[in-house]
Amino acid sequence: MPYDDQNVFAKILRAEIPCDKVYEDDWALAFKDISPKAPTHLLVIPRGAYVSMDDFSAHASEAEIAGFFRAVGAVARDAGAAADGYRFLANHGRDAHQEVPHFHVHIFAGRDLGGMIRRAKD
Ligand code: AMP
Repeated sequence: MPYDDQNVFAKILRAEIPCDKVYEDDWALAFKDISPKAPTHLLVIPRGAYVSMDDFSAHASEAEIAGFFRAVGAVARDAGAAADGYRFLANHGRDAHQEVPHFHVHIFAGRDLGGMIRRAKD
């Protein structure tokens, strides 16, 4: 799937639409999810144009990958989530219900997050 530079996170990166920013560095931007699923629900996105984890892991440079995942850890730590625990998750493609086609990691924290995965239907 080619990268669509009109996706909502591309617009946030270009500051064409606002976000509730919590972190930024050379590699990543992090902001609050607009529809939180936990008391803390943050999104971390790379600055580069990658559709999903599949694209990012195949095509990003070593520096982009290292910088991005260091940022994910820093965002969770800065949010105070490292002590009691957090979950990070990235949806890729149809079966994972990825909605926004710019690679992003969700960070969930602030309560017991329950079991790892639940089946939508058989
Ligand atoms: P995914 O299903 O993994 O693609 O998740 C996309 C996430 O982006 C959802 O949790 C949405 O609530 C969130 N989202 C969509 N638009 C915005 C926005 N403008 N600002 C913050 N979060 C957003």
